[in-house]
Amino acid sequence: MIKLPLKNIFILTGAGISAESGIATFRGTGGLWNNYRIEDVATPAAFNKNPSLIWEFYFERIDKIRKSKPNDGHYAIKKLISLSKNIHLITQNVDDLHEKAGIKNVIHMHGDIMTAFCPKCKKKYSVTRIKRPLPMCKQCDSILRPNVVWFGEKPIYLEKIYNLLTKSSVFISIGTSGNVYPAAEFHLIAKSLGARTVFINLEDTGIQSDLFFLGKAGIILPQLFDKWISKGYIEFNK
Ligand code: NAD
Ligand code: ZN
Repeated sequence: MIKLPLKNIFILTGAGISAESGIATFRGTGGLWNNYRIEDVATPAAFNKNPSLIWEFYFERIDKIRKSKPNDGHYAIKKLISLSKNIHLITQNVDDLHEKAGIKNVIHMHGDIMTAFCPKCKKKYSVTRIKRPLPMCKQCDSILRPNVVWFGEKPIYLEKIYNLLTKSSVFISIGTSGNVYPAAEFHLIAKSLGARTVFINLEDTGIQSDLFFLGKAGIILPQLFDKWISKGYIEFNK
């Protein structure tokens, strides 16, 4: 039996943490939007070809996310993170539900849907201040793009993320399918450096981990984290 203290924890969340707040995972939508494959909407090539169509997709998602509230899973993470400065949250999600649950310093490796930027002069805009249906840069008159990382683009903050991975003794993955790289191999890096791994998912993704909990994040996380917090440590078999 090994007991690890509640610090030096790397938490990775994916679309599954927001599913119970009504924001569909890609698979939950059948991978489609208005008969387009999401992989064909969320790409730089699709945006260059038809920016109005891509903005229609994003404005729909922005409106949905603005009306959504964090669920018990988001609040449980907030409670755990409040214990130590050395518990870090990295999300693949572009929604702002972790922030709405009160967490600051969320690392959004795939960007943040509540902002847009100008590809030419790089000026950033809050989506509350851009014009529909096709937002333009006030500075240089270029078409703005959503501040999200598209298929084929490199995630942001990777240097910081790899640095945090090397310092982690526990790696926790919540609601992520393991299909999107490089996030899908973060647990392998942590493991190779000696960290213990914990996975929480609605389905068995087949990923090997030290602890695995099958079910909804909104039900599992409050119980699991309260247990860890009351003991003051996480227990692993080896
Ligand atoms: P994914 O859609 O590929 O997988 C989601 C995973 O969550 C699945 O393995 C599923 O079994 C699990 N899941 C579903 N409901 C759950 C629940 N209630 N509790 C626990 N697990 C649950 O999502 P992904 O792995 O995050 O990667 C896909 C990409 O899509 C990411 O890059 C992300 O940026 C993007 N995306 C983001 C959002 C968002 O911001 N909320 C939503 C959809 C997709
Ligand atoms: Zn500009």
